[in-house]
Amino acid sequence: MKLILLGAAGSGKGTMAKKISEDFKVPQISTGDMFREIAKQGGDLGEKVAKLMSSGSLVPNEITFEVLKERLKKDDCKNGFILDGFPRSLIQAQMLRELTDIDAVISIELPFSELEKRLVNRRICASCGDIDNVSYDGYTGACRKCGKKLFQRDDDKPEAIKTRLEVYKKDVTPLINFYGDKVMTVSSSGSPDETYAPVKTFLTKLEAKA
Ligand code: AMP
Repeated sequence: MKLILLGAAGSGKGTMAKKISEDFKVPQISTGDMFREIAKQGGDLGEKVAKLMSSGSLVPNEITFEVLKERLKKDDCKNGFILDGFPRSLIQAQMLRELTDIDAVISIELPFSELEKRLVNRRICASCGDIDNVSYDGYTGACRKCGKKLFQRDDDKPEAIKTRLEVYKKDVTPLINFYGDKVMTVSSSGSPDETYAPVKTFLTKLEAKA
């Protein structure tokens, strides 16, 4: 099953990708995670990527597509994958179409005012990657899973958030039209389980048809 997950930063896209990945046995391919790894490694490319990411801008299409293409060649993608963070524009969708067909697109939606609130309060564990939120009950500043200190991503700071959401709106909305009847839309205003339930039903049916 070859899937795309669409959803602005803070929509819960990463959480949905993990659930889908577990239930349907396809790897989650997150371009954002791949770029964070590249940024950590440093060098010319790493520094360039780090600078773009911390300002909330996109990495150029050629670099992004090259990184993705290499990842999709790996063995674990043979039976499909779930793309999280790609494509982010019509041009990227057209590049992807040259490489492979897509079975379905899940679009996770939430009003921007709600997304801004979630993002500015979001904290990440540098050690295990778990995500917490300053506004959640029981928040202590330490990771609930491993106890390490949580931090705020540079691109979760207010100015970068505004840029990311504006870029998302401009570039991703046309993708909904591009993928037409392959798109399933779901609101993430409820809990992660409430958001996931209709997605799971949809994908189970899709899998049965294949
Ligand atoms: P994310 O974790 O998906 O919010 O991505 C974090 C950052 O990685 C973005 O703000 C971009 O700088 C970069 N990035 C991730 N995916 C893409 C993409 N498909 N095209 C260009 N840049 C990307």
